[in-house]
Amino acid sequence: MSIKIIQGDITKLSVDAIVNAANPSLLGGGGVDGAIHRAAGPKLLEECKSLGGANPGQAKITHGYDLPARWVIHTVGPLWRGGKEGEPIILKRCYENSLCIARSYELRSIAFPSISTGAYGYPIEEASEIALSTIEWFLENCAYYEMEVICVLHNKRDYEVYIQTAKILGIDYEV
Ligand code: ADP
Repeated sequence: MSIKIIQGDITKLSVDAIVNAANPSLLGGGGVDGAIHRAAGPKLLEECKSLGGANPGQAKITHGYDLPARWVIHTVGPLWRGGKEGEPIILKRCYENSLCIARSYELRSIAFPSISTGAYGYPIEEASEIALSTIEWFLENCAYYEMEVICVLHNKRDYEVYIQTAKILGIDYEV
């Protein structure tokens, strides 16, 4: 089991699945969602139309089409409203539900962006704690075969926050 923290563009990764920080329509948007749809091509949107949307915290899987990744797991993060409207538990569910789907497909390598910390406004320091602790908990308690989870941060500052959080929480990670 391992957690990797890297800086980069999630659409370029040759992994079993990348996770998309989608909106409830699951029909594409800005940020990482837009980048994933551009790189995957129009067939991704066609398949997404059949999913019927998703609620915050839920996750649904599609093929990766023109992406190097075989699958895309679409999850809807919480919109930050100050932190007292259930945002932490919803964000935790995004990671848990995405990892549960990955496990049910027996996927071995899964890459996550930093869900909700772009347009949805979740503070990265707090979101990184939930991301890393939930991933570590899942790998230790729920994975029954070797899984590699990669946290992909688009910019240097977010990458540095993740590394700092991993150190504070005492989480074993690779870079
Ligand atoms: P949300 O609406 O869930 O906040 P965003 O796409 O706006 O989703 O932002 C989520 C995170 O994805 C942000 O930290 C942003 O920097 C990051 N991001 C944007 N493009 C990419 C990409 N190509 N690869 C990885 N992360 C990305």
